[in-house]
Amino acid sequence: MEKTMIAARLHALHQPMSLDRIPVPKPRATDVLVEVRACGIVPNMANVINNWPTWFPHQPIPKFPAIFGLDPAGVVAEVGEAVINVKPGDRVYVSPLRSCGSCKACRSGNRSQCRYYTLNGYFSTSPDGQRIFYLYPYGGFSQYMTAPEYALVSLPNNLSFLQAGRFGYLGTSYGALKNAKAGPGQVALIDGITGTLGVAATVLGLAMGLSRILGTGRNDELLQRVKALAPDRIEIMSLADRSSGEWARSLTGGESVDFVISALGAKAPAATMVDSMRRAAGGGAASSMWAVSPKTCRSMSSG
Ligand SMILES: [Zn+2]
Repeated sequence: MEKTMIAARLHALHQPMSLDRIPVPKPRATDVLVEVRACGIVPNMANVINNWPTWFPHQPIPKFPAIFGLDPAGVVAEVGEAVINVKPGDRVYVSPLRSCGSCKACRSGNRSQCRYYTLNGYFSTSPDGQRIFYLYPYGGFSQYMTAPEYALVSLPNNLSFLQAGRFGYLGTSYGALKNAKAGPGQVALIDGITGTLGVAATVLGLAMGLSRILGTGRNDELLQRVKALAPDRIEIMSLADRSSGEWARSLTGGESVDFVISALGAKAPAATMVDSMRRAAGGGAASSMWAVSPKTCRSMSSG
């Protein structure tokens, strides 16, 4: 086992990360040490990190020098003595979701309500998240990282580490579909269908049996490529042409869609979301709206 490793560390805001040689950490009893083979990169990460302390002064990023890196995948190198279901050599994705695990919110399955809820290797949405960064200071931009056993997702051999580095985005869209109880026979409206989250929701929604997917976007060429995934089940519309809510209603005989997934980019006007919520999702008692875009990274129901 090597004693030192290379990690990309950020020493100050608005500076490039530097490659530093630091000690390889020892996993605590309930943790594992993962040798990172791939890590997803959030395209907007530098912008988010540099502005986070201004945007959300009460929500911490890790103390400097900090190791970021949100969606790592790799091989388990070592396990703590209390780790039961994971062994060295296992191929894993490391989920960035961290919480205390023992409070009322965690025990009832609402981990995002935990006062320590944190995205390891990125930022925390909780004032007390620095406690988690203290326990888990290693993000994916590091040769080795420690992680709690509960954060590991076992990878089958036919899934590459590079593919697993996209699990964060895929999982976000999958979570929205699960929350919406997506299933056979349903019609969904996906606003922002051409982005990473929108395409993920489309592919997963097709696999989950959605009968029809109505998708909106701004780029006609990308819209055509999404439609080509399943031309008989996907309808597309450019947001430049028409209101998304009105269009969706015209395709469903005036009825509401079963649910809306909003995967619009951070700079998209809020009017599209409001329109879809009111006119496409608003009609039926069972219809709901799930936002997965970075700006509105939370779920909500149109009621
Ligand atoms: Zn908790």
